Amino acid sequence: MVVGRFAPSPTGPLHFGSLVAAVASYCDAKSQGGRWLLRIEDVDTTRRVAGASADMIRTLQHYGFVWDEKIVYQSERTEHYEQALAQLRHRGLAYPCTCSRKEIADSSTQLGIEGAIYPGTCLQHPIKPDTPAAWRLKTPAINIGFADRVVGWQQHAMARDIGDFVIKRADGLFSYQLAVVVDDALQGVTHVVRGADLLQSTTRQIYLQQCLGYATPAYAHIPLVLNDQGQKLSKQTLATALPLDNILATLVAAFNFLPYLPQPVPNFSNLPALWQWAMAHWQLGQLASD
Ligand SMILES: [Zn+2]
Repeated sequence: MVVGRFAPSPTGPLHFGSLVAAVASYCDAKSQGGRWLLRIEDVDTTRRVAGASADMIRTLQHYGFVWDEKIVYQSERTEHYEQALAQLRHRGLAYPCTCSRKEIADSSTQLGIEGAIYPGTCLQHPIKPDTPAAWRLKTPAINIGFADRVVGWQQHAMARDIGDFVIKRADGLFSYQLAVVVDDALQGVTHVVRGADLLQSTTRQIYLQQCLGYATPAYAHIPLVLNDQGQKLSKQTLATALPLDNILATLVAAFNFLPYLPQPVPNFSNLPALWQWAMAHWQLGQLASD
């Protein structure tokens, strides 16, 4: 059974870029006779915008999306994340870290894909007393790779490219990487279809899945919708909220952005007919991920 999901962060209204990602995951799951879940990724409660998740849900309903289970909110799932952290600690895979950002920048001698590689200071020295500690996952000198269904084979050398990464922050919030891995596993997600901005996160998520004994889903990272300046659409780059009229035309524009449907997309006079056509013609390709 195929299980897909759409997992927006409630940091602002749904915009055209989010619609494209939602359409891709929805068509991928539903065209394979699968289930599709909606998860609100509000694990970082400091970035949450009041009313944004309700607004997103309303917009998705207007566009004809139907989810197959109760909506999951990450902000309500701390106990699951705590259990995962306890399991990682029990296996000796995680350790506390009291280094400041500046200390890491000053002591690091290696650059990874996201900046300074953590030099392992708190593994070798006692942590500072009376200082809130983050938790890091140890990254061994192994390669983690996967066959992305859109962009093909991807690989990182975990210690060299990523380094020991934070799974729980010093302020007590769990990291995006840990929350996503726990949620995808507990929700039985088999097919992740999402924007290419998350491509670089995937090897960390696969490594976490291996540490926690979870299965690895198939991954497909679709091209991002960029604005005229070549930037990803976001609140900062003035992505506007999706219209609640003209839904047919907006959906067709989203379909036209995705090269997994025959082009041009024909005109339909109603939403169900448009969705039905999309499900019948959707073809993302099926490169296996092992
Ligand atoms: Zn440290």
